[in-house]
Amino acid sequence: MFTLSHESRLVDLLEANQQWTKSTSQQHPDLFPTNAKGQQPHTLFIACSDSRVNENCLGVLPGEVFSWRSVANICRPNDLSTLSTLEFAVNCLKVNKIVLCGHTDCGGINTCVSGKLNNLRENNCSHLADHLQEVENTRLSYREELAVSDNPARLLSIRHAERQFVHLVTNPTVKSALQEGNLQVHALLYNVDTGLLEKLTSTE
Ligand SMILES: [Zn+2]
Repeated sequence: MFTLSHESRLVDLLEANQQWTKSTSQQHPDLFPTNAKGQQPHTLFIACSDSRVNENCLGVLPGEVFSWRSVANICRPNDLSTLSTLEFAVNCLKVNKIVLCGHTDCGGINTCVSGKLNNLRENNCSHLADHLQEVENTRLSYREELAVSDNPARLLSIRHAERQFVHLVTNPTVKSALQEGNLQVHALLYNVDTGLLEKLTSTE
């Protein structure tokens, strides 16, 4: 089912790319000539780096979506990647939608839910542990609600995505585009077992 694997070598990757460009060009003859002229993406898609999650769940083609992915879709208010991505997407590319896409069965979320954040530090992943502190903070804020949930991992994915949504709508770049009516921000949850998105919260 998958195109490539751990056993694949560079020659296999390049061959797969040849096949992909051939079939994509056949299906969409105008795509590469259009993309050669530049990009005008309509949406900034912020998601986890998880291999199962990306903007393809919207059925889009290359050129439609500017994307930014990180472990556990974290967009901390003072993080340089967050700030620069938002400035470029909103002020320069003029996207009119931001999708913050959390997902189910997230490794970062699962680590915090199972109380294993410190295990990462003992396992050569101290930067990852520092990064996931944002998720851990959300877990601590919702400790009581999570304790009585029959699916705390899913619930934390939702609460974490909602918290990142708040970071986004309070970012100065996003805030001013929202005030001018040029932008909508949506927090969605991607279900890895069905491919379906569900709405969590939105400025719309
Ligand atoms: Zn994830």
